[in-house]
Amino acid sequence: MNKQKFYLTTTLPYVNAELHIGHALEFVQADTIVRYFRNKLGKENVFFNVGTDEHGQKIYNKAQEEGLELKPFVDKYAQRVMDFCKLFNVEYDNFYRTSDTKHHELAQVFWNKCNENGDIYKKQYSGQYCVGCERYLTDKELVDGKCPDHHTVPELKTEENYFFRLSKYREPLLKWLEEKKAFVKPVYKMDELKKFISEMEDISISRLRENLPWGIEVPNDPTQMMYVWFDALTNYAIAVGYGTDEERFKQWWGPVQTCGPDNLRFQGAIWQGMLASAGLPQSEKLLVHGMVLGLDGTKMSKLVGNIVSPFEQEQKYGAEVVRFYLLTGIPTYDDAAYKEDDLVNEYNSRLANNFGNLLNRVIHLANAKEAEMNNEATVESEFKATVDTYVKEINSFYEDYEIYLAGEKIDQLADYGNKYITKEEPWSKEKPEAEKILNNLSYLLKHVIAGYSPILPVSSVKASEALEKREKLILFPKLEA
Ligand SMILES: [Zn+2]
Repeated sequence: MNKQKFYLTTTLPYVNAELHIGHALEFVQADTIVRYFRNKLGKENVFFNVGTDEHGQKIYNKAQEEGLELKPFVDKYAQRVMDFCKLFNVEYDNFYRTSDTKHHELAQVFWNKCNENGDIYKKQYSGQYCVGCERYLTDKELVDGKCPDHHTVPELKTEENYFFRLSKYREPLLKWLEEKKAFVKPVYKMDELKKFISEMEDISISRLRENLPWGIEVPNDPTQMMYVWFDALTNYAIAVGYGTDEERFKQWWGPVQTCGPDNLRFQGAIWQGMLASAGLPQSEKLLVHGMVLGLDGTKMSKLVGNIVSPFEQEQKYGAEVVRFYLLTGIPTYDDAAYKEDDLVNEYNSRLANNFGNLLNRVIHLANAKEAEMNNEATVESEFKATVDTYVKEINSFYEDYEIYLAGEKIDQLADYGNKYITKEEPWSKEKPEAEKILNNLSYLLKHVIAGYSPILPVSSVKASEALEKREKLILFPKLEA
């Protein structure tokens, strides 16, 4: 990727169900990273792709269950994802929908490229098909004869399908990873990824149209449709000009991609094989967030009934508070339970009592003392150096996509400010001395606000205005536990 350009794309969620809090986590993490880089590089140098994956068996079945035609069905769910983004201030540059005609054409261009390179062939195939995964599982993958992810016995199926020569890319991809040791974040996922790659076999990439009429036709063979994941994965390239605008594509490629732990194989192995086959450079980076678990620490599931809805959480606490908890209360790359008690405690201690309190104290005292603030040139050098050290650390966490750690550091900086004000007692000092202290603090606050701005896009603007205009405001009213 061009150093001046930053391209990030989330995984496109399937539109067969409502978004849950795990999707919300990925979207707000991605948005936060993007906001940091927009601040750093300028809006025009950052591209943020999100969207929806709208084909495949699961969606076909679900639409039938709901008694809806396919197009209105996917429209309805895609709209929900857009509503979510609006509600949570996920500010994308592009909303990609795989049911768009343009996507159909360009996914076929991608297919043709792999075909020209000799990587697609037709063969009779019998295998164990998991509807949940939308793919055939190998014997190695089954646990007690069941899909390890869906705990269901796969169906035995025979079809004549197109296959993708994924096995050809085992060695090249392993070699590439030798030089790209930090490709996956967290790094401990690298062993898992290498295992996926070293076990890659050729895979079926089409289905008979008579079995699945909803999707993208295989070029020059109307009896076959592309597998949903083959079509969907190409969006990451098409979103920045693949197949339409080579210059644009070159400018933006390759992406930082975000995904959940169950997507490592698709994005880290299969998609990288597809890229190699199409003669394109590999992705730049893969950020694999953790799983958001139920209150009791187990996987959220419809069956157990412990799914948390981001829409309900927003109703209850507001988008900024939910964002704050997802980003700074849940480790960026580890599995963690979503606990509303923690949400309330984290918010109260970090925002209400720490940052919000400091902001109010400084504005209140500055007004009481009629002290000048917000003058960077007269900030005391020792104080400035301390703040700048924090800022450097905060930024390097963001650079490294460590949102949770950045949040922790910002909280420490605000805490440093509160301790400083308590120690210096500007209320007991004559105006010139009080002014020096408060001006120092305004410098610190400016950087606390800047640090939080990717995480709290709305509150940070309000805080910044309050500090500028010296208007007292209760930005973070305390929440009752
Ligand atoms: Zn499965």
